[in-house]
Amino acid sequence: MIQKVLDEALEYAKVHLKEGHVADYIPELAKVDPDKIGVSIVTTDGKHYCAGDWDQTFTAQSIAKTISFILAMQTAGAKKVFDHVGVEPTGDPFNSILKLELKDGKPLNPMINAGAIAVVSCIEGDDPIGQFLALARRLCRRDTIEIDQAVYRSEKATGMRNRALAYFMQSEGLIEQNVEEVLDIYFQICSLSVTTQDLATCGMILANDGVDPFTGERLVDNSILRVIKSLMVTCGLYDGSGEFAVRVGLPTKSGVGGGMMSAVEGKMGIGVFSPRLDEKGNSVCSYHMLEYISNHLKLHYFSSHN
Ligand code: GLU
Repeated sequence: MIQKVLDEALEYAKVHLKEGHVADYIPELAKVDPDKIGVSIVTTDGKHYCAGDWDQTFTAQSIAKTISFILAMQTAGAKKVFDHVGVEPTGDPFNSILKLELKDGKPLNPMINAGAIAVVSCIEGDDPIGQFLALARRLCRRDTIEIDQAVYRSEKATGMRNRALAYFMQSEGLIEQNVEEVLDIYFQICSLSVTTQDLATCGMILANDGVDPFTGERLVDNSILRVIKSLMVTCGLYDGSGEFAVRVGLPTKSGVGGGMMSAVEGKMGIGVFSPRLDEKGNSVCSYHMLEYISNHLKLHYFSSHN
């Protein structure tokens, strides 16, 4: 049943394969093959289903903000994190600077760029990137996950808007450290190289109350999961989060690399990928695949199961 729905979802979405545009504001991202499309599901009882270019690697971009948020909460605690960032949707684009000035430099949520940069500045302990990679590898259950160095260097060289956000937050006293060092960590986090199976596995562990079902090990506490999954519902698709909640109804985070990661409570994780984005920065075909899967497996959080 699940495999059939995945195969159909891919065909259904492929009709839209040429719609939208690949993100090219990070030059290296423009080099991706725009016609790739793939999907994976990993269930909480350990089964893997896949279709299309499911094992193609791409950069997680904003999807990785979920993992860096978990790491900040684990190392610094909720008090410090929420002194630096709120939990309200913005209704603005992911890279907007607009509301920062209105809110004394405190970003509204951790899923927009300003919020994710503020969250990264909270991570405590030595070697934040080493800690981040270790957590990402455990959540995705793949030891070979790495940072895509070419995308990282490309974003570091061109990420002036993120610099503007970070320096503004420093001017308001929100970021105390060296801004370039914080941004260096942020750019590497965004450049995490993943497949749809990695995202589906990570989503599955979030959906499984933070426990890796293969080892029985708890990787994330419920108090943190409640926050991150709520944020995925309210802020996971930038200023498209409301419409996505109505049409798809799954806690999901998207990234401008074309991926999306969903956590279907108690059941499964879903990873989808296709590089062309709509005007809000969300992958056109990833959106269509998730909508099809949600409707046909009756996964919407308010779906009627009759
Ligand atoms: N690295 C990207 C940026 O900072 C992430 C944006 C996204 O995926 O929404 O612009």
